[in-house]
Amino acid sequence: MARRPLVAGNWKMNGLQASAGELTAIIAGARGLPNADFMICPPATLVARFAALAQGSRVAIGGQDCHAEPAGAYTGDIAAEMLKDAGASAVIVGHSERRHYHGETDAMVRAKALAARRAGLLAIVCIGETRAERDAGKTHTIVRAQLDGSLPDGFFDFVVAYEPVWAIGTGVTPTKDDVFDVHRFIREQLSTRYGDAGQGIRILYGGSVKPANAKELLGIDNVDGALVGGASLKADEFLAIAAVYR
Ligand code: PEP
Repeated sequence: MARRPLVAGNWKMNGLQASAGELTAIIAGARGLPNADFMICPPATLVARFAALAQGSRVAIGGQDCHAEPAGAYTGDIAAEMLKDAGASAVIVGHSERRHYHGETDAMVRAKALAARRAGLLAIVCIGETRAERDAGKTHTIVRAQLDGSLPDGFFDFVVAYEPVWAIGTGVTPTKDDVFDVHRFIREQLSTRYGDAGQGIRILYGGSVKPANAKELLGIDNVDGALVGGASLKADEFLAIAAVYR
């Protein structure tokens, strides 16, 4: 089944109003790259402005996290409905930094994926093992448990992002064979759980994707695009990654 690639940028806690120029450069560059979908997930403070700038373009705007509830006494949190209201069309849930620094469990991530759906947002559900888990030979066990616990049932229009924790922001990436192995394993899990629809779910790779390694990583079977952190902050780097799909 043909799956349209998605190149998504996670700006994390980076970006001020002055960063809008990077977005406009990405919007311009995306016009020349019709074979991939594009998304930028800026900090919440920039979602509304970026969504307005990106309106009618090929670049979708996403949030980086959402609360599971639609509203309420949750100081500092953002509901999926609020992101939607601000113009977002997607949201990342379960990023390893949220799991690690904010103690998010698989059940919480699943609730957030359901909240995204309720609000009409595409959820990008992140999973991935730590270095210690990989070294202990537990990668498949961890990935399976995260998929089982974090993914919703009853609908299939979400994206999975496989991001080995030890590859995020480190400049280190798994070998081609390791990425092939885990993405194939994830595909098998999705097909077992969702039947034919599991073939259509996009699986992104994330973790130190750069222009220099994009061709190799994004050329691997069952890698349907990238979730890019650091290299998404600069339009030229982000577009050089996406140019793999030229
Ligand atoms: C991320 O945070 O999702 C990520 C993949 O970061 P980086 O590309 O910087 O490793």
